[in-house]
Amino acid sequence: SFEFLEKFRDPELCRKMLDRMEAELESDLRFMEVCGTHTVAIFQSGLRSLLPKKIVHLSGPGCPVCVTHESEVNAFLDLAANERVIMATFGDLMRVPGDNGRNLKKAVADGARVKVVYSPFDTLKLAKENPDDLVVFIGVGFETTAPTIAATMKMARQQGIKNLRILCFHKTVPLALDALLSDEAINVDGFILPGHVSAIIGTKPYEFIAEKYNKSAVVTGFEPLDILQSLNQMIDWRKKGEAHVVNNYTRIVGENGNTKAVEIMYEVFEPIDALWRGIGLIPGSGLEIRAEWEEFDAKKEFGITIEDCAPLKGCKCGDILKGIKQPDECPLFGKPCTPANPVGPCMVSTEGSCAAYYKYKLD
Ligand code: SF4
Repeated sequence: SFEFLEKFRDPELCRKMLDRMEAELESDLRFMEVCGTHTVAIFQSGLRSLLPKKIVHLSGPGCPVCVTHESEVNAFLDLAANERVIMATFGDLMRVPGDNGRNLKKAVADGARVKVVYSPFDTLKLAKENPDDLVVFIGVGFETTAPTIAATMKMARQQGIKNLRILCFHKTVPLALDALLSDEAINVDGFILPGHVSAIIGTKPYEFIAEKYNKSAVVTGFEPLDILQSLNQMIDWRKKGEAHVVNNYTRIVGENGNTKAVEIMYEVFEPIDALWRGIGLIPGSGLEIRAEWEEFDAKKEFGITIEDCAPLKGCKCGDILKGIKQPDECPLFGKPCTPANPVGPCMVSTEGSCAAYYKYKLD
């Protein structure tokens, strides 16, 4: 309840935690959050400007729209032009730019049929209402969304729906963190781990962060005290030369996550190598529709293959997703790139760090 959450916003306690950090910090602590909701929470709560100067906040690859690779964006834009197809998508993909300034909004103006849905389950109704067309849902997102898509496919099969396809670009979070940590150019001391993804997969898949890389990572809620507590712990551990992976969000996240959701996800999908914007190919980090479910596979139906391509000209989203650059270090930030006129996906999505940076820093 609201009252319960208020406890995690107590201004006096927040101040104490901030003072403690200031006193304890001996050198810069570079922390990365890996969840668009954390990005927004850190700005919205005002924490971003209250954190000690020695705390460096980096946004990692936690915005699903932002990490969707340029070639995947071009693929769904190409498919939207197909006359047989009604594209179904979450609204935040509508303005994501592809090559030559294309996006789904402009595609609609050119005659493409695109429907914004609020849940993948809405595609079942859409498919039934349009029996002569193919409804293709653009599947982007992490372990939070993939189980719902899997459940939608199961329901479609049960209901005998034959004209629903999924264009599957789902990705999984832990291997992306492994890829970042193995890159020497990337300098991160610890992670604030995503609350929602962790509610599905639990904490075990992150244990390699401490074991293999000697860095800490804390599953964290979205209130200011949640975040401050995790940062304080990371400071203490670093001082002692320790690294741990722990769960501070026990009110939502269980150690083993939601095993039922993971089960249904892997019943329908299997791991494949996937391209991430800015990071490139990460082996095993994507989800592909299993052969047993191929009647839903839009890639198979339309012979779509995803190959690496040039990044968007001038856009530094890739470096921002890796924590190498901050949004205002991009020469296009604020001019010409704004939420009203986004050049890259990090400015489109409300969870993108450029959009959060713009909204809360410049307003
Ligand atoms: Fe890309 Fe715009 Fe962000 Fe620059 S400011 S990195 S162009 S989204």
